[in-house]
Amino acid sequence: LRHHVRVSHETDGAALPDPLLAALRAAVGPSHVLTDADLRATYETDWSRRFHGVAAAVVRPGTMDEVAAVVRACGQGGAAVVPQGGNTGLVGGSVPRAAAPRDGRGAPRPQVILSMLRLRELGAVDQVAGEVTVGAGVTLGALQAHLAGSGWEVGIDMGSRDSATLGGMVATNAGGIHVLRNGVMRQQLVGIEAVLASGEIVRRLPGAVKDNTGYALPALFAGSEGTLAVVTRLRLRLVPPLPRRAVALLAVDDAGQAATFAAELRRRLACLTAAELFDDDGMRLVLVHAGGEAPFRERHPRYLLVECGAPDDPTDQLVEAISAVAARDAVVAGDEGGRRRLWALREGHTESVNAAGIPHKLDVSVPIGRIGAFDVAVREAIRAAHPLPRIFIYGHVGDGNLHVNVLGPDPDDEAVDDAVLGLVIELGGAVSAEHGIGVAKTAWLVRDRGEADIAAMRAIKRGLDPGDVLNPGVLFSDPA
Ligand SMILES: Cc1cc2nc3c(=O)[nH]c(=O)nc-3n(C[C@H](O)[C@H](O)[C@H](O)COP(=O)(O)OP(=O)(O)OC[C@H]3O[C@@H](n4cnc5c(N)ncnc54)[C@H](O)[C@@H]3O)c2cc1C
Repeated sequence: LRHHVRVSHETDGAALPDPLLAALRAAVGPSHVLTDADLRATYETDWSRRFHGVAAAVVRPGTMDEVAAVVRACGQGGAAVVPQGGNTGLVGGSVPRAAAPRDGRGAPRPQVILSMLRLRELGAVDQVAGEVTVGAGVTLGALQAHLAGSGWEVGIDMGSRDSATLGGMVATNAGGIHVLRNGVMRQQLVGIEAVLASGEIVRRLPGAVKDNTGYALPALFAGSEGTLAVVTRLRLRLVPPLPRRAVALLAVDDAGQAATFAAELRRRLACLTAAELFDDDGMRLVLVHAGGEAPFRERHPRYLLVECGAPDDPTDQLVEAISAVAARDAVVAGDEGGRRRLWALREGHTESVNAAGIPHKLDVSVPIGRIGAFDVAVREAIRAAHPLPRIFIYGHVGDGNLHVNVLGPDPDDEAVDDAVLGLVIELGGAVSAEHGIGVAKTAWLVRDRGEADIAAMRAIKRGLDPGDVLNPGVLFSDPA
């Protein structure tokens, strides 16, 4: 379990053959084929800085036809295509592999980053259906702005909203802070348009909420991490907005108590939209990095942030419900400024941890009833694997999804990752909750899913992408 691909300076950088370079330039126009190392640089390293690889080129198509032409040319020219949206994914799937994939003769294949950011179509809101069709390169934040005043909202929200693209969110089956109420990205997806490895287009647009005509390709592509198809457009179902919000921060004894309180509040509050957990070390780090004031005079072991959304002000309901659980302390904010300040304590974690070093980020699910036991055991396991780790555990406690972040071990040192993921499997959890497998967790996929699942997944990959054109090395470290 120690052969994960990690940050390495021994990156292979196979060059593009001239005919392929010419075909790419013809497909998207020369100004959208970036071969210069300086221009490629920001596309080649992921958000966490842990994963990096050399691309032969970054190609920026502006239409679905251009995407198809690029994928077809790469397939014919022996290059690997690495689809990339906002590059906020945290498992190394959106950047070239440090060790380039090999061709049949063992030679490194050139890797082409397919940047989707120019596919920025924002369709009109379908008021009758409560749906919208958008280009894969639209960011979540841009869609939220587009929907403002329309009477509808997107069912998903998350801290990376201003950079993460909807295509990337489909590809990773993103979760976020409102899963409790609206489900994950796959559940918002009504229709899709995507380019297969052959360059053929599959289109189920506008699609239908109820559609049992054969295999559900939108559902299959959601979470496929760019290995089966390149998503070019998608149609999302929208949710009615909940204009009045109230947020509470509860100081609690431990993670298990946070999970119990979250469940109790869920039973009591039909308006509950989010239940998030963080620890005191994490909150202190956020306060140092981003500024702000501690919400309580005393320090507490863990914090549970809950949000209610409703047509009318839900503050009183929230106050009543939280007084029924025996928290150590609590603050409630019904005004916009107060809500933002409390949310910043949770949403600032990813950026603050990243600013403090190159973290090992383990995004895992555990059965909700075992969150307390996991939080204790995982800290012991990490300390046994590394002498002086800095541990920050936060996440979507209402969904049983914790982000275990560890600073200290070298980026290539897998001991901590192995300890955490081994424990997750022991407790019956999932080694990836929302970020995906990418290249970071390929060795764990079979342990988590079992041989039969993996054989079925490989058969799907082989069937749709026999030449291993799309994102080789993601999900499976060897060709399917
Ligand atoms: C501060 C911060 C907070 C975050 N919070 C959350 C959270 O709450 N919930 C959550 O789920 N994630 C979260 N993430 C992770 C990340 O934002 C999501 O995984 C997001 O969905 C990635 O979108 P992207 O456009 O950046 O995709 P990228 O990072 O560019 O790509 C991710 C994967 O999708 C593939 N891909 C991208 N675009 C396409 C496409 N059009 N077609 C096919 N494949 C494609 C890539 O090849 C790669 O495998 C967070 C990240 C950060 C930095």
